[in-house]
Amino acid sequence: MAEIVLEGVTKAFGDGTVAVRDASFTIHDGELFILVGPSGCGKSTLLNMIVGLEAMSGGDLRLDGRSLRGVDPKDRDMAMVFQSYAIYPHMSVRENIAFPLKLAKLPSAEAEARVREVADLLGLSALLDRKPETLSGGQRQRVAMGRAMVRRPKVFLLDEPLSNLDAQFRGQMRAELARLQRRLGTTTVYVTHDQTEAMTLGDRVAILRGGEVQQVGTPRALYAQPANLFVAGFIGTPP
Ligand code: ADP
Ligand code: MG
Repeated sequence: MAEIVLEGVTKAFGDGTVAVRDASFTIHDGELFILVGPSGCGKSTLLNMIVGLEAMSGGDLRLDGRSLRGVDPKDRDMAMVFQSYAIYPHMSVRENIAFPLKLAKLPSAEAEARVREVADLLGLSALLDRKPETLSGGQRQRVAMGRAMVRRPKVFLLDEPLSNLDAQFRGQMRAELARLQRRLGTTTVYVTHDQTEAMTLGDRVAILRGGEVQQVGTPRALYAQPANLFVAGFIGTPP
């Protein structure tokens, strides 16, 4: 079970920039939830507050009823995949995926079993002994996802995970990601600036503009009943 409730979540940076203003919505257990909006609208800041890399200036965030205010990122049972893959070049695929388990001091036999399970899910089984430099962009991104998945977190957070891939491959990875998410049923929060990605991938979508949530709903509901002209224009609802 992993339900995230945001109540008036706000972030003002020291220079006065209000990156997120009064965000209130619920991310349901097991859903693939998308934060979408133009560059600079506050998507990453919101995701960083959920995972705990950025402190909130106001409001509250709860995971399964427990406030996350002041809770250390490593105690949130969440795992984040960044836009830049952030995998270690000197480690093999196996070592990269196993790294969080090593930090958690899991016995090596159990760690190896978990790595194999994740590699199987992600189609990396044949690549476990390879170094990242010998992998394609998509394969590297899968290694980064494997490293997030191997801890079996309650929540996955992905910040524009496909934006470094070329267009053709992005479509393929998008479909794979959706399949994987359905199979695991892990609550997932996914950031993108790409409205097509948002509307094809998301169970529900939150549309942001200038730090403010414009609308939250299923892709179907957003198409059928956009809350305002910005939403209609952004997702391309016919006038
Ligand atoms: P997005 O991910 O949607 O592109 P961000 O969350 O990165 O947007 O940024 C939202 C706004 O907050 C932008 O105006 C950005 O310049 C600003 N911002 C982000 N990080 C900082 C920071 N550390 N200090 C000041 N302003 C920031
Ligand atoms: Mg961003």
